[in-house]
Amino acid sequence: MAEAEIRKIIHVDMDAFYASVEQRDDPSLRGRPVAVGGRQRGVVMAASYEARKFGVRSAMPSVTAKRLCPELMFVKPRFDVYKDVSRQIREIFLDYTPLVEPLSLDEAYLDVTTNLKGMPLASEIAREIRARILERTGLTASAGISYNKFLAKLASDHRKPNGQTVIPPEKGSAFVEGLPVGRFHGVGPKTAEKMNRLGIHTGADLKAQTDMKIAVLNAEIAEREAQRQAERDARDQQMQMAMHTEKIEAMTKAKKVTRDGSGRVSGVE
Ligand SMILES: [Mg+2]
Repeated sequence: MAEAEIRKIIHVDMDAFYASVEQRDDPSLRGRPVAVGGRQRGVVMAASYEARKFGVRSAMPSVTAKRLCPELMFVKPRFDVYKDVSRQIREIFLDYTPLVEPLSLDEAYLDVTTNLKGMPLASEIAREIRARILERTGLTASAGISYNKFLAKLASDHRKPNGQTVIPPEKGSAFVEGLPVGRFHGVGPKTAEKMNRLGIHTGADLKAQTDMKIAVLNAEIAEREAQRQAERDARDQQMQMAMHTEKIEAMTKAKKVTRDGSGRVSGVE
């Protein structure tokens, strides 16, 4: 039987996308903390790396961001420009594989298991793509390379900005085990905090929890099964005893009948 083919997935993710586009197009914003979004109301849609140093994050209310970083510069989003860049990077992706799965304007999974350039190394493809993106758009991207989408996405975040990380099959488990729970897809800051309070800090802790939970569940199931068996045994015993009693009663009655000598079977229900 043929061995299942190991897939080669690249996750490409532009670095601080909206904010980087704004810094590219307005030199006065370069090297400064920038937030794309409304200054008064609304949320931060993207924060430059300079802003992130102050704790400014996307999806954060603008007022909170301003409090964290008083010199934060707010810029209105220009979606048509972001869409143009998105189209440009998509064109580059399609030079390598038709299997492109965009996640948003600035992120996509590429399946390069078999690729249009016949390149054997996915990490080489990622490097080439990132170089071409920089050349074409003046913007940097990071990439994660692995054998599934989950790990590729984790990997692209590992050496941001302007970096790339490979997670080969033999390193997959170790990578996940070493990862803080907050980095798992779907675990937000609040859930991460709760998990941390419970002593779950890394993927390894989470795995141990899962193993423990499974052990507890198995013990519970075994216990319940034992209890059910005991109940069944008790029922059987009762039934046997009842049958035994009935037999004795019947025998006693029969004896009585015999002793009475009446020949009539009376009183038998
Ligand atoms: Mg991005």
